[in-house]
Amino acid sequence: MLERLKALLIRFPALRSVKIHIFLLMLAMGVIPSFVMRIGILQSYEERAVSLRISDTQAQFSIIANHLLANNYLQDTSNAAINAELEQISTLYDGRVLIINNSFHVVKDTYGISEGKTIISEEVIRCFKGQNTTNYERKGGYIEMTIPIMDSVSSAAASADTARTADTAVQGVLLASVSTESIRTTMEIMNRNALIIEIVMVIFIFGIAVGISYILIRPFNRVTQAVNEIRDGFTDEPICVRDYRETEQIVDAFNQLLSRMKVIDDSRQEFVANVSHELKTPLTSMKVLADSLMQMEGAPIELYQEFMQDITVEIDRENKIINDLLSLVKMDKTAAQLSIESVDINELIELVLKRLRPIARTRDIEVVFESIRPVTAEVDEVKITQVFTNLVENAIKYNKEHGWVKVLLDADHQSFTVEISDSGIGIPEADYDHIFERFYRVDKSHSREIGGTGLGLAITRNAVLLHRGSVRVSSVEGEGTCFTVKIPLTYVKQETGTK
Ligand code: ADP
Repeated sequence: MLERLKALLIRFPALRSVKIHIFLLMLAMGVIPSFVMRIGILQSYEERAVSLRISDTQAQFSIIANHLLANNYLQDTSNAAINAELEQISTLYDGRVLIINNSFHVVKDTYGISEGKTIISEEVIRCFKGQNTTNYERKGGYIEMTIPIMDSVSSAAASADTARTADTAVQGVLLASVSTESIRTTMEIMNRNALIIEIVMVIFIFGIAVGISYILIRPFNRVTQAVNEIRDGFTDEPICVRDYRETEQIVDAFNQLLSRMKVIDDSRQEFVANVSHELKTPLTSMKVLADSLMQMEGAPIELYQEFMQDITVEIDRENKIINDLLSLVKMDKTAAQLSIESVDINELIELVLKRLRPIARTRDIEVVFESIRPVTAEVDEVKITQVFTNLVENAIKYNKEHGWVKVLLDADHQSFTVEISDSGIGIPEADYDHIFERFYRVDKSHSREIGGTGLGLAITRNAVLLHRGSVRVSSVEGEGTCFTVKIPLTYVKQETGTK
């Protein structure tokens, strides 16, 4: 049933409108009661009219039955007065009267068709036992009844509708059918009048339903209009439609979305500004170097070489920024792009340290790896390599001469933890939350000097989050920093999007 209703709503989109629902509901609430009322009134009129007709005719036929008995009509049907009386009453009720004697023979039929025939029906038999029977044939438009012809004592018992034992007292049966045409005609007139009133009511209710559904739905139209104005860029002010709690909830949710989008838009703008600035800095340096070379006529070849070396450094820096940006953009996409496989984490870290040790050696920094247990985890090898490369590289970059870097690997039954601690310059506590932002550096000039782009930790955090892990930092200024990365051993793909 519900499925069929759904299919209907899909087939006729107009039916999905709340306005149509309210309209139909109101129409139904008006039309159904008036329809039920009309049918109810007609039915109760019919019941009352039929029962009146039955009691009326039964009384009349009982009197006739007494006359029949008194005049010995069952034996001799030639009595003109009784015949006239029978004719008169059958004309009056537009019906038919049959008189049946105790041999079940029809002695009189006002239609003159069945005289002499035998009638043994259930009603007649019951009547011979002293019971009055009545049967209303709605379709045929008549009431059929049987009245026993018997002496007045038995007759009193029969009219009380009690089963009689003295069967012999019933000497005949008066079987009559009475037309209910007049009741039907009255009902038709009543029905017609009620129908006219009903139609007028339906038209009236229709008008009210249209009006009310329009009024009730107006606040929702205002919400749509306000949203459209924001979409078209006429305004970016929060919407306010407080008519209903429902509109208030929709509007509140929309306003929250709007402010979130504003935050995203602001951060996007800031990001674009930062990117432009970062990309411009090496270009400016290159331009300055190239300009000064061009201005110096007859400059020695050594000077050219020195300037070209500086330009190459700037090109490398530009290249690094662009590569980091590309990694970040890739990481911003969905986790569906992770290529998850079972990776030996001990081996992965060993490899990262092997690549970075030469850099550490230039500043006499000792890099130590301690593994509590062998760890294998389901991760994206490239991205996790990037995470540990960034963190160990930072630990070397922001370290002191002759310092140390320690990498500690451990795991429990759910996740593995890698601690990267160093004996470096440390990070002020106020900067803990910011260092993961794009282009944020604690000391801008120092970071730039040592070739930092300010994107490393942003890339690291994104990669860890894609693996449903976490990264924390703790540090003591001037003494050192410790980054702790925790990643689940098994990757559980999260369902995204709604149906
Ligand atoms: P960068 O390319 O500048 O290193 P990151 O995003 O990797 O950018 O790091 C952001 C900032 O966090 C760095 O500029 C530095 O100030 C600080 N930082 C990161 N790691 C360390 C560390 N191990 N010790 C001290 N400071 C650090």
